[in-house]
Amino acid sequence: MTTGSFTRVTGRFAPSPTGLLHLGNAWSFLLAWLAARVESGRIILRHEDIDPARSRQAWMDAIERDLLWLGLTWDEGPEKGPHAPYRQSLCSPLYEKALEELKAQGRIYPCYCTRKELRMLAGAPHGAADGLGDAGAAYPGTCRHLSAEERAKKEAEGRRPALRLLCPDDAEEPFHDLVLGPQRITLQSCGGDFALRRSDGVWAYQLAVVVDDMRMGVTQVVRGEDILLSTPRQLLLYRLLGGTPPDFAHIPLLHDREGERLAKRHQSLSLAALRDRGCRPEAIVGFLARLANLQESGAPVTPAALAERLRSEGAFPWHRLPKGRIIVPDELPRSC
Ligand code: GLU
Ligand code: ZN
Repeated sequence: MTTGSFTRVTGRFAPSPTGLLHLGNAWSFLLAWLAARVESGRIILRHEDIDPARSRQAWMDAIERDLLWLGLTWDEGPEKGPHAPYRQSLCSPLYEKALEELKAQGRIYPCYCTRKELRMLAGAPHGAADGLGDAGAAYPGTCRHLSAEERAKKEAEGRRPALRLLCPDDAEEPFHDLVLGPQRITLQSCGGDFALRRSDGVWAYQLAVVVDDMRMGVTQVVRGEDILLSTPRQLLLYRLLGGTPPDFAHIPLLHDREGERLAKRHQSLSLAALRDRGCRPEAIVGFLARLANLQESGAPVTPAALAERLRSEGAFPWHRLPKGRIIVPDELPRSC
């Protein structure tokens, strides 16, 4: 944020505890941490464990251990800070309240479409491949205007509805991305009316993340470019709920040599596996800092020392980040 000395940056780590952190997560969290620390800002840790089928306490513990091992500390998070809970699974009443507000605005409608029907209606999967459960395909608006009888009939068939947000047709939520520059993306191209609650009662990422970032006073969101198409949807929610949106930085993601995005299945690149192989955290941070063009060599460095160096240069150098996909070179396992 450059809005003056009164606003301190508040950034956040928002991991989904569905597996071990890998090098790609370390990359995102290191950049989120540095971007806040360079501005003497704060970092919040929030576990995004909304999906009970995929989240585990053991992963939350492992995430905390791995972040600390890397030197990525947080100022607020589980067990410390004024914005508890720091776990989304404990926040249902807050999401419920936001949903009620949106209902009162006439914005919510039940959608009875099954996944299979949606797939057939929408054709190929939509570009919003955020892997976050609620936005697989562009929704054609089928259930927008069901009559009371039609709804009753679906209910009688035993169908449980998802709840969707009515998005204005052709509306855009323009924003300036700190990495990608000005963005003008229509809500339609982000998948149209999106779900806020799934038919099985699980809250959707879009709602949870906005409610939590709002109530925690987050001013800067640094996350992977894969989530870019969620941002216009989240901006709409900010507007409807009367919140001030944060600054967004969508960063390029790390890929393996086959061009596949680093993910939990790349077990050899989990931080735990790297640690077991004898890698030092400073070596990993140095390696990532070079990939980000934040230092010329991959020399080992702690996040704190790196932040100190960047602070002496002024603001966080977003423009130095490479563009497009980043292929992770092979030398990490050898150099650490
Ligand atoms: N829990 C989300 C994820 O792990 C975070 C997305 C975000 O940073 O908004 O992908
Ligand atoms: Zn529907």
